Amino acid sequence: MPHEPGRVAARYLSVIEEEIVPLTEAGVVAGNKLFGAAILKKDDLSLVVAASNRERENPLLHGEVAALNAFFAIPATARPAARECLFLATHEPCSLCLSAITWAGFDNFTYLFAYEDTRDAFSIPHDLAILREVFGVEGGAYRRDNAFWSGRALSELVAAAPEEERRALAERQGALAKVYARLSETYQAKKGGSGIALS
Ligand SMILES: [Zn+2]
Repeated sequence: MPHEPGRVAARYLSVIEEEIVPLTEAGVVAGNKLFGAAILKKDDLSLVVAASNRERENPLLHGEVAALNAFFAIPATARPAARECLFLATHEPCSLCLSAITWAGFDNFTYLFAYEDTRDAFSIPHDLAILREVFGVEGGAYRRDNAFWSGRALSELVAAAPEEERRALAERQGALAKVYARLSETYQAKKGGSGIALS
């Protein structure tokens, strides 16, 4: 990675704060889950696409899949190669999205909230349940480094940042946790009758 961990973490937090959260605010009001994703260029950390979950249209339109669809909607001549891009997810990708990121050719992803947060703080237990029931993977222990990609928590980037940057980054993470707690309240209040199989 050509950038320092603290700089990348700060940029990821900005993309979530400024690009993904506004999309998600509208999404949860429409009854969608609070998951979002973005794709950035590795060389200058510029944003390529951002998206949020649109399960009310189609239960496969997770935030990550919506971002990948937006990415591949860019004409091939104008679209960076997946290998030249960073993949950012607000929540640790589920098994569907792990596979989608793999098939799309990305060699990395970073997430803000872990599976346990999704289950405990956001009351959406399906990621861990599908890994256990379908794949026999306990505790969400998929291979975070494999032949296709490396997956990391944003908090690992923050931990690797210089000490003088760490506190401000952690504060921004904490502020986002509050924003997502509010988004979660909206989603949970609206999910009854949403028609989503795994709500
Ligand atoms: Zn997913």
